[in-house]
Amino acid sequence: MTKTIKPVRVRFAPSPTGRTHLGSGRTALYNYLLARQTGGQFILRIEDTDQKRFVKGAEEELMEGLHWLGLDWDEGPDVGGEYGPYRQTERRELYQKYSRHLVERGQAYYCFCAVSEDVEDKKEKTSFQKHRNICPDRDVDLAEADQKVAGGEPHVIRFRMPRDGNITVTDAIRGDITVENITLDDTILVKSDGLPVYHLAVVVDDHLMGITHAIRTSEWLPTFPLHGHLYAAFGWDQPTWIHPSIFLKPDGKGKMSKRDSEALMEAGKPIFLSDFGRMGYLPEAVVNWAALIGWSYDDKTEEFSMEDLIEKFSVEKLSPAPAALNFSKLDHFNGLYIRTLDVADLAARLRPFFEAGGYLVNDDEKLLQVAEALQIRLANLAEAPEKGGFFFKDEVYPDPESLIGKKMTAEQSMEMAQHIETLIASLPDFSEESASQPLRDLATEMGLKAGHVFGFLRNALTAQKVSPPVFETMEIIGREKVLERIRKGIEILENV
Ligand code: GLU
Repeated sequence: MTKTIKPVRVRFAPSPTGRTHLGSGRTALYNYLLARQTGGQFILRIEDTDQKRFVKGAEEELMEGLHWLGLDWDEGPDVGGEYGPYRQTERRELYQKYSRHLVERGQAYYCFCAVSEDVEDKKEKTSFQKHRNICPDRDVDLAEADQKVAGGEPHVIRFRMPRDGNITVTDAIRGDITVENITLDDTILVKSDGLPVYHLAVVVDDHLMGITHAIRTSEWLPTFPLHGHLYAAFGWDQPTWIHPSIFLKPDGKGKMSKRDSEALMEAGKPIFLSDFGRMGYLPEAVVNWAALIGWSYDDKTEEFSMEDLIEKFSVEKLSPAPAALNFSKLDHFNGLYIRTLDVADLAARLRPFFEAGGYLVNDDEKLLQVAEALQIRLANLAEAPEKGGFFFKDEVYPDPESLIGKKMTAEQSMEMAQHIETLIASLPDFSEESASQPLRDLATEMGLKAGHVFGFLRNALTAQKVSPPVFETMEIIGREKVLERIRKGIEILENV
């Protein structure tokens, strides 16, 4: 049942500063769910004002990652919209206009004493002095400051933080958060390059874009009070703020650092959106898994398709507690979703993995059969070449030892194989009904176990210890290749 809340306008506002992390994917997902649930709009806004950290190609990778997850946006730099532009560097004049507005109202001021944010950061860290208390420019007359600006003197614009009182901001997950203004500083709003910092840009853009609900990582909680001050300074209504919890490392011990993400990658665990698909995960599984990191529906339901999530997601059920990443759960969901795929769909998703494994997949019918045979055997699409590559090979190269039956000599095994060849050649088809009993009878006649016969067949046909059932395998490989591989097995045994 869809909740009866009014259509929201939500945004996902990434900075193109590197690869897109799973955490950003989850933030985007939550925003998207709320938009689709309420019939509202999901907006993509690129926050690229930090030119030092800008990474070329990051925006493209980000969009690809979101599309891969199944998210589409109603407004954004690529699709346009009434509230554009949707890239912050293209909105420069707006920030200039609004920061000037704050300056004229005495809520911000030109500061000439530290043009570099870096220098300022360092100074603050070493001295613990608030800029608010030491800046000689804070109380300079605006006309005088304007003259310096007009004269080209390098400057930044700072927020004039009140020296006393306190501020309360409200997060939908955590409730009211009150801090004393004395603990806050005169934060830089516009840097010396004329570009705004996040704090100013986010407030201006959320307001101008009519954002009603803002879901962003809880890493922004420390600067949340400043945003409250900015809204008050502009006299604007705030959106509903929602800060989902951060991720913890898989062992639950501490926040994920950049180094932890790299370590996960090295251990073969994806953490950036663009790696999941490449590493054999289904977007359906990643969406389900990511949604549950920090959100729950009840204490038992775990499987949620995108449609389910759109229907059931609720801000009230987001948890403020940080959640550890559980990759076994992701693997579990992946196997589950692989099994529910339509075979043709699975086949299409497997094709690139076989191709990347070096197999030529030019027989669609065969690919379908292979997909069907592998479906219950895959926990991950990337396992397909290893588990089923032999279907597409011209020849397989079984290890000679694998063709020799338990407690049998090579000669006995060869003799058995010759009988298998004759029998197989005489079978009308390779279905279990037609092939199973005659092969079992052959084993009995030769005083062997069925396992001997099937073991030889499996190894000769697949050169693998584990494979889909032998009959299914033979049907897919086809009579000609089955006999060819058996003969090759015999030949190998002759030369042992
Ligand atoms: N650009 C910010 C980030 O990438 C966005 C935070 C927000 O959603 O307001 O963290």
